[in-house]
Amino acid sequence: IPLLPLVRCPCCRVRSAVCLVSKPEQNPDRVFYKCPNHRNGKGGCNFFHWEDGEDSYVDYLSSIGVVIPCIDSAGEIEEQEHKVEQKAMKNVEKKVEKVEKKDEMQQILEKIEDLIGLCKMTLCVLWC
Ligand SMILES: [Zn+2]
Repeated sequence: IPLLPLVRCPCCRVRSAVCLVSKPEQNPDRVFYKCPNHRNGKGGCNFFHWEDGEDSYVDYLSSIGVVIPCIDSAGEIEEQEHKVEQKAMKNVEKKVEKVEKKDEMQQILEKIEDLIGLCKMTLCVLWC
């Protein structure tokens, strides 16, 4: 279950929302958030949101300005790393054109490898 911040119930303002999973016989294992005082159709508190879909808990959180942790940040990191590598490779190609001696080329390749490593480290620091 991806954990979203549990906010205080906006309806009764006494208790914090709880995160639960629906029973399979009613809904197929869907995650929802509700007030512990919520009773379906029996009065009590109105606060109830599914995690996804229409009028979701995520929508509610953004409407009250709560910051939601980015769930697919891992994919973005991979993409950025890829771009950095491509940029570094273009630099290598430019330099290789100018260099004719093999040992000089080797030295430059080693430097570029260091550069790629440094870029990856920088990304890790930024994202962690
Ligand atoms: Zn409530």
